[in-house]
Amino acid sequence: MTSYGVFSRASGHEEVIFCHDDPSGLRAIIAIHSTALGPALGGVRMRPYTTEAEALNDVLLLSQGMSYKSALAGVGLGGGKAVIIGDPATGKTDGLLHAFARRVNSLGGTYITAPDAGTTVRDMDVIGEHSKHVVGRSPECGGFGDPSPYTALGVFRCMLASMEFLRGSGSLRDRVVGVEGAGKVGYHLVRYLIDGGARVAVTDVDEGALARIRSLGDVRTVASADELLTLPLDIFAPCALGGSLTAERAASIQARIVCGAANNQLAEPDVATSLHRRGILYAPDYLANAGGLVHVAGELRGFDSERTRSAVMSISDTLGEVYQMATADHVSPAEAADRLARRRIAVGAS
Ligand code: NAD
Repeated sequence: MTSYGVFSRASGHEEVIFCHDDPSGLRAIIAIHSTALGPALGGVRMRPYTTEAEALNDVLLLSQGMSYKSALAGVGLGGGKAVIIGDPATGKTDGLLHAFARRVNSLGGTYITAPDAGTTVRDMDVIGEHSKHVVGRSPECGGFGDPSPYTALGVFRCMLASMEFLRGSGSLRDRVVGVEGAGKVGYHLVRYLIDGGARVAVTDVDEGALARIRSLGDVRTVASADELLTLPLDIFAPCALGGSLTAERAASIQARIVCGAANNQLAEPDVATSLHRRGILYAPDYLANAGGLVHVAGELRGFDSERTRSAVMSISDTLGEVYQMATADHVSPAEAADRLARRRIAVGAS
């Protein structure tokens, strides 16, 4: 195991650890961005990154995002993330997850792992056989299962808060919402939207996911995000992968609000400014999608569904504050959210 302290100081991270384990084939990077507000919690992502540099870039960005997300969600945690380099469909073994668990243990609880893209609740159960520094396990193994419904609730509430800010009325009745990605979060989000009286259009690359969404009720499905964006949307909700908001889309999108669950929605940081200049309200992704974090954080303290639900509901209050700050400071909501998060982390560190 190698710890790159000098490098991590340069990038603002507390510690970046490169892990290699020959017997299991584990190649992983754990990035601890900040422990100023508590232990660094963040999921472990498994992807067949083509280079170690690509994996490093991903883990550095994601771990910083987790620090900001935790700071704004007020969960008393810091931010970290891990990536395992490999194909989750073919390269994942219990031995590899156990080796990863041992690396997590070697950090003495400063990093707490959780599921992310390419890892599952079952994988957390396997890691939990060798480490106590893991959340997002199944109820059979002492966890609280899938956080996606809570993530969806937080996003839905942030849509209401965005409508309130922009239109003075926190209602989605007859508003047109386009959802990109009908996976775990997208499914529950569409459920909330239908209940809230919205008109919903959805796209997904997976026909099975679209079929599940259609079973929820009157939902229009379209072939691609580009087609979705030609509809007269009030809200665009990126709930698939990161990078959906490209400079081109930011220049042409007609929706007045962007609010979704995907991490790293902005293909480039400048996109936030482009949206802002066009008067399009962007709910910062790490704030809008913090419901899942609130859910898994509850696992560390003994889960209480009412307390968790109310903490998720209050994410939209923080979003309202961020919109007010952005207006007062003449900056984009993304910049206002970053400033608020950095302030809270600095207070924790002092
Ligand atoms: P998921 O894998 O269950 O769903 C993602 C869906 O997006 C899949 O149905 C997939 O087919 C679809 N998709 C992939 N590429 C697409 C494309 N180009 N166009 C349209 N659809 C496409 O994931 P999820 O758990 O629902 O998470 C969705 C997003 O929210 C991810 O970016 C994730 O990182 C983020 N997020 C999830 C949670 C959570 O609690 N699950 C919490 C915070 C953030």
